[in-house]
Amino acid sequence: MSNIGSPLVKLNDGHAMPVLGLGTSAPAEVAKKEVEEAINIAIDVGYRHFDSAYFYQNEEEIGRAIGKKIASGTVKRDEIFCTSKLWSTFHRPELVQKALEASLKKLQMSYVDLYLIHSPMSFKPGDELLPMDAQGKLIYDTVDLCSTWEAMEKCKDAGLAKSIGVSNFNCRQLEMILNKPGLKYKPVCNQVECHPYHNQRKLLEFCKSKDVVLVAYAALGSNTKKQWVKKGNPILLEDPVLNAIAEKYRRTPAQIALRYQLQRGIVVLAKSFNRKRIQENFQIFDFQLTPEDMKTIDDLNRNIQYFDGSTSEDSPDLDD
Ligand code: NAP
Repeated sequence: MSNIGSPLVKLNDGHAMPVLGLGTSAPAEVAKKEVEEAINIAIDVGYRHFDSAYFYQNEEEIGRAIGKKIASGTVKRDEIFCTSKLWSTFHRPELVQKALEASLKKLQMSYVDLYLIHSPMSFKPGDELLPMDAQGKLIYDTVDLCSTWEAMEKCKDAGLAKSIGVSNFNCRQLEMILNKPGLKYKPVCNQVECHPYHNQRKLLEFCKSKDVVLVAYAALGSNTKKQWVKKGNPILLEDPVLNAIAEKYRRTPAQIALRYQLQRGIVVLAKSFNRKRIQENFQIFDFQLTPEDMKTIDDLNRNIQYFDGSTSEDSPDLDD
């Protein structure tokens, strides 16, 4: 990658990733067109890293927006870092490359910069993204994630993904891949929920010790309108401590929450489809939080997760 708008972090496979990415997942009622316009704005602002997934069902719009910016000469393909993710119904090794090819077709790209196993939970293969039984319970599949990983490695070898990684893996699941006999490529990253109320201190230490980058999602506390986000949790950006620190630096709580992650060596995602907030979230490279303020934010940790795991309570691959 060259000539990009935000700093880069080197990955363990030699590639590089911009430290700030635009999140693209939105509630179902948000018009698909909005993501297209958001990417258009974000590229002009300087974003080069875009986080998508088959599950978000907006890869076509994302691909179209990026494609137009490439066609107009604003950016080159190699200046863009585009992530997609293998959905849980495609964990069986024979389905992995086909799933990536389907994403690439929608994105209108010949490769993604990063392909992630979206979640360690495997669901029954088929057309349903969330296959349910008659009682409305998710139908799981039993797949050895090491065999899924081997298929991911083949996608990298085939040039369909520059880098490969995982998402929502705990230490044990990550270690299982890292210790896999015959491992060809380590995951470059683990994308997980991470914010001041759930700062993932232990997982971060573990990832750093293995040269795996931690990528933070829900870094702004996510969106309580999403159907899969837990209701009733305190709203992160309304936290009084975060707001006091923001005031001190003449920044917004969102900028403080994002800057906090950068200073921990974390790659951070921020979703916004609003011009003003897309710009605001990019203004995080020109100030520094003091060690004391970093510690104060660390102390906000209270194990609050916005993403509701209740639909997957009986998954055989759940976190410890
Ligand atoms: P998020 O980035 O923490 O928060 C997004 C919400 O914050 C939106 O409602 C957005 O509204 C609002 N917002 C954005 N900037 C703001 C600002 N400066 N001030 C106030 N509000 C602001 O949540 P997320 O979308 O859940 O997570 C980020 C991305 O991570 C996702 O989009 C997706 O790409 C990825 N993700 C991955 C997984 C996974 O399992 N791997 C799970 C969840 C998310 P507006 O759009 O109106 O600005």
